[in-house]
Amino acid sequence: MENLYDVIIIGAGPAGLSAGLYASRAKLNTLIIEKGIDGGQIVGTDSVDNYPGAPENTTGPSLVARMVEQAKEFGAKKVMEEVTEVDLKSQPKIIKTNQNEYQAKSVIIASGASHRFIGAPGEEEFSGRGISYCATCDGPFAEGLHVYVIGGGDAAVEESLFLTKYASKVTIIHRRDEFKAAKSIVEKAKENEKIDFMFNSQVVEIKGDKFIESFIVKDTISGEEREIGLDEGQKRHSIFVFIGYIPNTGLFTDQIDIVNGYIMTNEQCETSIPGVYAVGDVRVKNVRQVVTATGDGATAAVTAEKFIETNDL
Ligand code: NAP
Repeated sequence: MENLYDVIIIGAGPAGLSAGLYASRAKLNTLIIEKGIDGGQIVGTDSVDNYPGAPENTTGPSLVARMVEQAKEFGAKKVMEEVTEVDLKSQPKIIKTNQNEYQAKSVIIASGASHRFIGAPGEEEFSGRGISYCATCDGPFAEGLHVYVIGGGDAAVEESLFLTKYASKVTIIHRRDEFKAAKSIVEKAKENEKIDFMFNSQVVEIKGDKFIESFIVKDTISGEEREIGLDEGQKRHSIFVFIGYIPNTGLFTDQIDIVNGYIMTNEQCETSIPGVYAVGDVRVKNVRQVVTATGDGATAAVTAEKFIETNDL
């Protein structure tokens, strides 16, 4: 049957690409569907130093490029299309995109998560004109500036350290007075002379004309608000937002078990529907790292292979 695949993988981040590698290596007819840039969140990372065996100076994009190559070497097909509708309960399962309709004996959901917005007036208007969600992409534009970073997790603190390469000063604005980030990187940030902290603070409005000229910060304890203008000699503000992610599960909510937006799975990455798996940041799990995402991809592909075999599909 035309357009019938053994495995269709939705998303080409590390979890999806790893699933693609394992599935195609097992000689399953495999299709990976990605709507945008391959790699998901990791492409915004300048240095990947916690993926075992990755050579020194590995960047997110270089790691992803190799993952794509490897999956293709074993025969996985990859298309750039946007999935618009799915029927996961039928057998074969139906996946509709903006360009095609596919059928699949099994589906691996690797749709990842998108970055969260602060939701303050001015955020959307100045996005790409002073507000950024990617230090690797926009760090060089912050050369010599006093930069503000919003967030208190690993990403905010790690990216602040990275931004000190370019910025004259980095102020981390966090809504509490304790970090969610790992102690080890918080210590590194505290030791860095270029980094200072604005605790119990929330950015509630961003103002300017062509570029950001000021922003309003609210004290989360007293409720008091103050306006942060430009440092002397600086013509525009540069604000980086790293406040976590929202799982991309909108397409699946009425078909599959979802908890707090994340897909519920067991250790085999099996969802509530037979033959449907969820891998990486889109599923309920404690540790969201490239290494755990790739592990999920391998697990799901091997389980999908057994599902197809056992059910004689
Ligand atoms: P995260 O761990 O969810 O942290 C989000 C931070 O943003 C929290 O400090 C949170 O504040 C704050 N926040 C959330 N909503 C906010 C809002 N509306 N306004 C202001 N602040 C807000 O997200 P992440 O740092 O992006 O990390 C995501 C995952 O990737 C984590 O599992 C993390 O461990 C992992 N990661 C790992 C590494 C690494 O190990 N090298 C690097 C980057 C990311 P509260 O603390 O008050 O909740």
